[in-house]
Amino acid sequence: MSDPAPRPGAPGGPSEPASRPRSRPLALRPVPALHGIPAKRCPDGHPNDPEATECRLCERPIDVAASVVDLRPGPLGRLLLEDGTATALVADLAVGRCPPDDSGNETLVVAGRQISRVHFAVEVRGWRLGIRDRGSTNGTFITRRGERGRRRVPEDRSVPMAIGDAIHFGARQALIVRPE
Ligand SMILES: [Zn+2]
Repeated sequence: MSDPAPRPGAPGGPSEPASRPRSRPLALRPVPALHGIPAKRCPDGHPNDPEATECRLCERPIDVAASVVDLRPGPLGRLLLEDGTATALVADLAVGRCPPDDSGNETLVVAGRQISRVHFAVEVRGWRLGIRDRGSTNGTFITRRGERGRRRVPEDRSVPMAIGDAIHFGARQALIVRPE
């Protein structure tokens, strides 16, 4: 056991270095999807979920016979903090006091007491938005549009979010609003 390992390239040594340099993350920011997702356009041309019956932006009815096209939908919504700052929801967004910037997520720094380093994440999956608690100390809660009660967001799975839903975390609040 006391013999030093043969150096890479030395006779009898391994062909690969014993310890490879740690690979850097491939991308610090999410790479935009190269391909679109299936969509139907409303009479005003806004892209929508092919299963939607009315436009998410202008609320006009969508013709069931409208053709399905592949496109990139742009932001599905905005995360509007109670201080007025808004963040477009185009890719997974990690929110917290000090969210990591090497996770491949978009990040949003929100200061405040009772806010964890990474508090929650808003997830973008095709036409769907979800939210997941990221192991926060004080929890993440949501109030559905038109409802009054708060329900706790689980840590182990994503729950669907929709325009008009509110998020409560620490002493801060955010609202999911329509994209501009
Ligand atoms: Zn529309």
